[in-house]
Amino acid sequence: MNSSPQPLWIALGAGAILTLGGLGWLTRDLSAQPSGGKRHPSLLELLEEVRQASPVPESGRQAAPAPPAHRPWQSPLRASCAPGDPAHRLRLQQLAESIKTSPARVQIHPTNFGERFNRDAYGNPVDPTPQLVVLHETVYGIGSAINTFVTPHPRDEDQVSYHTLIGGDGSVVQVLDPSKRAFGAGNSAFNGRWVVSNAKVGGSVNNFSLHVSLETPLDGEDDGPAHSGYTSAQYDVLAALLARWMQSFPIPAAHITTHRAVDLGGERADPRSFNWSELQIRLQSLGLLCRS
Ligand SMILES: [Zn+2]
Repeated sequence: MNSSPQPLWIALGAGAILTLGGLGWLTRDLSAQPSGGKRHPSLLELLEEVRQASPVPESGRQAAPAPPAHRPWQSPLRASCAPGDPAHRLRLQQLAESIKTSPARVQIHPTNFGERFNRDAYGNPVDPTPQLVVLHETVYGIGSAINTFVTPHPRDEDQVSYHTLIGGDGSVVQVLDPSKRAFGAGNSAFNGRWVVSNAKVGGSVNNFSLHVSLETPLDGEDDGPAHSGYTSAQYDVLAALLARWMQSFPIPAAHITTHRAVDLGGERADPRSFNWSELQIRLQSLGLLCRS
């Protein structure tokens, strides 16, 4: 594990954030520039064109199959504009800032992640912008998870990664830049949506998701239905991380979901014993649940 910031990485990461999440900001900057009489389409407009591209495949192409029927996500988070404790809010904001500047980072093996796709396996355009957050738990310690990610996995079914890990003590490990496609949830869909990037394997939410995993407490290192839950420090860091992601990408609170909810195989139960009230309090405090 390398805990010192790397300038090149930061530059690349910043570029990715700009590409994927900062389009609105960039667009404003570009629109302000003189265009020599002829107005060029903004990046946002170009992106809209991609988003509005007809789902009908181009001639000779095949439509991607839709995911099987699956229960729609009902977010436990409630809209609320009630102001939280200002001291708590400030602490979470400072935490969000520190995550931005100094998370520990690991270099994982390239077999365990990929690039985001602009087209699916059938050649149809898909939007690679992160629009969903999937919560997980590690079951074993963070060290075990990192060990798995750095190990080469030639077989598709063994490949796994998340973007971020959050230790029981509130430590943060940045595993993948948001611009990369983590292999967090194979065979998955969210509200009737998936992307089939490999026709042999089926679809998943990975192309439009960010994955974060909470370190499981020691009494959860089994396949039992529950454990003693996550620490206050973990909920603090999770809220701070979500704040960053929600501000960088088009991710509403209703798009924070669980591996259990997106899993189509009915085999995943994580994160077990997750307390949504703890997240509610923190996101509310950060003003992220106040919507009209
Ligand atoms: Zn999971």
